[in-house]
Amino acid sequence: MNTTPSFAQLPYQRPNTAEFLTSSAALLARLEAAETAEIQRAIVMEWDTLRRSWSTQKSIAEVHYQQDTASEQAKTEQEFYDTAGPEVMSAEVDFLKVLTTSPHRSALEASIGQQAFALWDCTLTTFEPAIADDQRAEASLRNQYNELMAAIRIELDGETHTLSTIRGTFGDADRGVRAAAMAAMDGAMADKSDALDALYHKLVGCRHQMAGKLGYDSFTELGYRKMLRTDYTHVEVAQFRAEIQAVLVPLAARIRARQAAALGVSDYAYHDEAVRDLQGVPCPKGDASWMLDQASTLFERMGPDFDRFFSMMRRRDLLDLESRDGKAGGGFCTSFEDHHIPFIFANFNGTQDDVNVFTHECGHAFQCYSAQRQPLSDYIWPTYEACEVHSMGLELMSWPHMELFFGDDADRFRIGHLEDALTFVPYGTAVDAFQHRVYERPDATPQERAEMWRSVERDFLPWRTYSNMPYAEGGRIWQRQRHIYMSPFYYIDYCLAQLCALQFWSLARKDQADAMQRYRALCDLGGSKPFTELLEAVGLKSPFEPGVVREVVGEAAAFLEL
Ligand SMILES: [Zn+2]
Repeated sequence: MNTTPSFAQLPYQRPNTAEFLTSSAALLARLEAAETAEIQRAIVMEWDTLRRSWSTQKSIAEVHYQQDTASEQAKTEQEFYDTAGPEVMSAEVDFLKVLTTSPHRSALEASIGQQAFALWDCTLTTFEPAIADDQRAEASLRNQYNELMAAIRIELDGETHTLSTIRGTFGDADRGVRAAAMAAMDGAMADKSDALDALYHKLVGCRHQMAGKLGYDSFTELGYRKMLRTDYTHVEVAQFRAEIQAVLVPLAARIRARQAAALGVSDYAYHDEAVRDLQGVPCPKGDASWMLDQASTLFERMGPDFDRFFSMMRRRDLLDLESRDGKAGGGFCTSFEDHHIPFIFANFNGTQDDVNVFTHECGHAFQCYSAQRQPLSDYIWPTYEACEVHSMGLELMSWPHMELFFGDDADRFRIGHLEDALTFVPYGTAVDAFQHRVYERPDATPQERAEMWRSVERDFLPWRTYSNMPYAEGGRIWQRQRHIYMSPFYYIDYCLAQLCALQFWSLARKDQADAMQRYRALCDLGGSKPFTELLEAVGLKSPFEPGVVREVVGEAAAFLEL
């Protein structure tokens, strides 16, 4: 038998829910009867194996669906997990209730770590069987969003684009092309605006209702718990947003002003934001298959562990990078835990974005690959803000090798990348501030939500001006941001992580080998600690610590001479 099957060769079989529940109940009975911590530990490991096999099939089905959202078969499989999800969750919660109240808890914590128990305590506060139907309704609304967005077609100069491929024109050196592309996208989104409003209105209502049934005042606290945030709350996040507004928004405004000057325009607008000079954005000097070869050289140069990792990814065909009709938008990395391998999904569009998406997702994948020695599946991936340190960290740490993709344009790429890293944070913070406002007022109308977005835009993106984009001008451009629909409160994670990734960037400028050593150590730790403790373990500062935002941003500003 082939012991290293490619993605296409991975066996897929829809799990049998009844069998899963029977096995889970049997493990629970044994857990309750177990007399020692050692016996309980062994049962936890068996339970972990059972969960891994379910999640492996689920991830394979998810990838199939994302690869072809128009396939009825793939959709049926995806829906199976959406329907079975609450029953599986219910069995997990039953098991966790006994496990977390075990008389042997402290011995078990000493053996498998406190973090797993912290995560499980948190999980227990996010589910009751009473919300099972709401969860199914939420999953169905999320799928509707995905399908609606994947089906959007944008006509531009006789060509038909998807939301993914149209992005390739946003950085065009010709201002007229950029403006026309943005206007075309704006028109296509405007056609779906009411449908997207209605979907979000239902999602917010559904989430608020679940929170009420679980005893929360609003969805906000439940949302934080669903993100498994155990070491900070919305209070620290609000302080972080305030620091971003005070320190980073002014720098981002200076970056925008310098771009406007370089472009020689007095009416700088949204369609100019992707370019920093009259040459347009640098593009990789070849197609997707050429990029893969360059990436192999990149990872070879980064060290034997990176080289082994990437050779394996290519050999086993664990990369789906090119845009196709019907393929869902965006990029992500997932894993098939039975097989101990990650998988990367992206939508290349021929610009510098491809390199960023690629190094970003490879950061996730390398971390997942590095953490395979962790004993529990809960420890393979950390919580999301920590995950994004691996991905955004690798984007910046691969800087010395960017000539491989951009040749003489590498310096232009690096400066632009740093500017983008910085200007992204106010946008990400706006997305977070918006969601807090939305869930504070779940009864708001779609029009009131549009006003909320315009208000956060004024706070965090004060330079933003739309030209010939009435849909965006009307306060609905956030509908393009899939996290707002798919994963509430998952977005500030990128901003927190960027402040950590920039610390890696700064360390690497002083001593690349030392920075890489710390990066590897962080990847090896997986999710065995909460976010702030992971940072501490490798000598990074928490972005919640007073003064850290100012320090990190100051260093980047000095580099940019701003
Ligand atoms: Zn990521």
